[in-house]
Amino acid sequence: MTEILARVAPGGTTIEPGFELVEDGLAARIDPARPATVRAYLPAFDQLTTGQATETVREALGHLQAFGLRPIGELRTRLVDEADWATAWQEHFHVLHVGRRLVIKPGWRRHSRTGDEVVIDLDPGMAFGTGLHPTTRLCLVALEARADRGPLGRVLDVGCGSGILSIAAVKLGGTRALGVDIDPIAIEATLANARHNRVGKRVRAREGSTPSDEGPFDTVLANLIAGVLIELAPELANELVPGGTLIGSGIFIDREPDTRRALEVAGFDIVGRWFESDWVALEARRPG
Ligand code: SAH
Repeated sequence: MTEILARVAPGGTTIEPGFELVEDGLAARIDPARPATVRAYLPAFDQLTTGQATETVREALGHLQAFGLRPIGELRTRLVDEADWATAWQEHFHVLHVGRRLVIKPGWRRHSRTGDEVVIDLDPGMAFGTGLHPTTRLCLVALEARADRGPLGRVLDVGCGSGILSIAAVKLGGTRALGVDIDPIAIEATLANARHNRVGKRVRAREGSTPSDEGPFDTVLANLIAGVLIELAPELANELVPGGTLIGSGIFIDREPDTRRALEVAGFDIVGRWFESDWVALEARRPG
């Protein structure tokens, strides 16, 4: 199919394989059993030329169908405005209000800060964590609520991704934050985003996980999947001062009982719960 389309499309073609969401919806796995989409872009100088090109392709795809390979869907055509190609995706990202006073703002949007709003400038980019995912949002809401009740102190952010939680933590009054992540791209993203938000001096990030060997912290944030939270529960407790707070997110609702149990076995008292659709975040306190 790409060969047929490439005959009329000088810019080449793209293949988007079918995929399914795995790891509690946090990752995608290519599923060859699902339909793939093949796309090609043609210059639309005049309707006659594009019309002819479309017909040529439709005919050739018909011949290909005769070989009895996998079924080929309808050829669909659509006129796209060239000027919009590079930036069309930006349309989908708006200023986001999270919790009572957090605002997540992509670089290309304007926002005038009002009252006690805390604005985080963040482009949806390389690493996970644009504030769009429910697990991140839940963590932010729990963090804000915790900050409203007293100082966050020193913060550890396990699985920092884009650094959104570390940045939010220091902007909400945390003295310093350390982000750790097993993915080196996340470290680059966290450092760049922290600088961009003018909190580069208070946010550090490095490759790693728990134990951080830099504890104890007053607050630990961990937006990881349930399985990892369960596995790390004892180490997360060790990172905290007595009386310190853990905010654990990324818990798919059917894993909540297991996660609670693991946190309690590690010595935590569960003191708060937030949920959105099928996701849960828990606030746990290490007894003082
Ligand atoms: N904190 C960000 C990103 C959460 S995604 C947010 O809330 O939006 C989870 C991140 O945890 C990913 O960047 C992943 O690389 C990292 N991660 C997964 N397992 C980890 C582990 N065992 N230790 C440290 N980081 C881990």
